[in-house]
Amino acid sequence: MMKIAVIGGGAAGLACAVLLARAGREVVILERGERLGKKLSATGNGQGNVTNVHMDATHYFSDDRERAARVLARCSAQDAVRFLESMGGIFLPDARGRVYPAGRQASAVTDLFRRELERLHVRVLTGAQVLKISYGSRFRVQYAGGEECADAVVLAAGGRAAKQFGTDGSAYSLAEAFGHTLTPLSPVLVQLRCDPAAVRGLKGIRVDAGLNVLRGGKRVFSCRGDVLFTESGLSGDAVFRASSYAEKGDTVCLDLVPDADKTRLSCAVGEGEGALLCIAPNGLARRLERLADGDRARLIALLKAFPLTVTGTLGFDYAQATRGGIPLAEVTDGFMSAYRPGLYFAGEILNVDGECGGYNLHWAWASAHAVAEALR
Ligand SMILES: Cc1cc2nc3c(=O)[nH]c(=O)nc-3n(C[C@H](O)[C@H](O)[C@H](O)COP(=O)(O)OP(=O)(O)OC[C@H]3O[C@@H](n4cnc5c(N)ncnc54)[C@H](O)[C@@H]3O)c2cc1C
Repeated sequence: MMKIAVIGGGAAGLACAVLLARAGREVVILERGERLGKKLSATGNGQGNVTNVHMDATHYFSDDRERAARVLARCSAQDAVRFLESMGGIFLPDARGRVYPAGRQASAVTDLFRRELERLHVRVLTGAQVLKISYGSRFRVQYAGGEECADAVVLAAGGRAAKQFGTDGSAYSLAEAFGHTLTPLSPVLVQLRCDPAAVRGLKGIRVDAGLNVLRGGKRVFSCRGDVLFTESGLSGDAVFRASSYAEKGDTVCLDLVPDADKTRLSCAVGEGEGALLCIAPNGLARRLERLADGDRARLIALLKAFPLTVTGTLGFDYAQATRGGIPLAEVTDGFMSAYRPGLYFAGEILNVDGECGGYNLHWAWASAHAVAEALR
């Protein structure tokens, strides 16, 4: 029986292991952490946003968007839900199309995988950080504490984001040893840093805002949602979404009262101190009043477009995903290495990242399906 070693017990590795074991393969998972799916259990603020009903390739970034699109076209949101529900549970969308387990517990999704792996008799080695993969007549996978031989290897060891979940980027070297390269890496789905003077004193203020990202005066991204002022910049759902598009030097313009137009505001906004009572949170109102310096028209303009210059992001340790990785140009449609037949890749290790909203977990499921199809 063909034996497959899956390196990484995260979303993509777990999905690969289940699909391959169902296809009758002997599968062993090697996970460096002490338990499987630690990151999966923390996703979506602990609620597990597993896919999105608005799923299509326009929500993704890659060196080869067409290749990514072909793979995504073979795994719709319904397919992802069907796959998850084949292990148990019910998965339902919210008003924005984000799909969650009905019980809103990400750890329960990990438990579904654990139960299914047990049922399929998949061998799981935890505390097994893979240090080297070599190839003679078979693959030899060396890990801290032992080694495994296999006919094929799936490298699903994640990217460089959120190292507290075992993903510090060190696993890229396992692919580099076979001649693979990496596209430039950057953190995405992450807080934006802004000019410190602009956000000083605003920490903790949360608004439902319209958010536009401007570059050279042109709008490159726009959304509406939760924005939280932090010590160094901006956080919140809308900001995480914008972080897939914003670059250093861009301007983030916040519409602080998206449901009121300038005409309505010109009736509502008062004069002098307290001009923005019941219009904006007090701390923010005081800042805007100071900036407008008694100019009512300027105050209204600031309410509709409060500008902040992006100076960077909070970095990989605070990011939910990695932009960049193994280029799709170096793998086949089934994500097999162009340099070492039998070596496959799935999940975030590949140069594909999705917007905030369930698209990254969806990529984990979709890429796992592509690999499993190729290895069946
Ligand atoms: C806090 C947080 C919340 C998120 N929320 C969402 C969300 O709601 N929806 C969404 O779509 N996406 C979300 N994401 C992103 C999503 O979790 C990832 O894109 C996805 O988990 C990637 O799956 P993966 O299997 O490729 O990698 P991972 O899930 O990162 O798994 C990789 C695994 O490989 C292991 N590993 C690494 N190196 C080795 C080695 N050398 N040997 C053995 N094992 C190794 C790691 O320990 C890890 O368990 C979130 C991310 C974070 C950090």
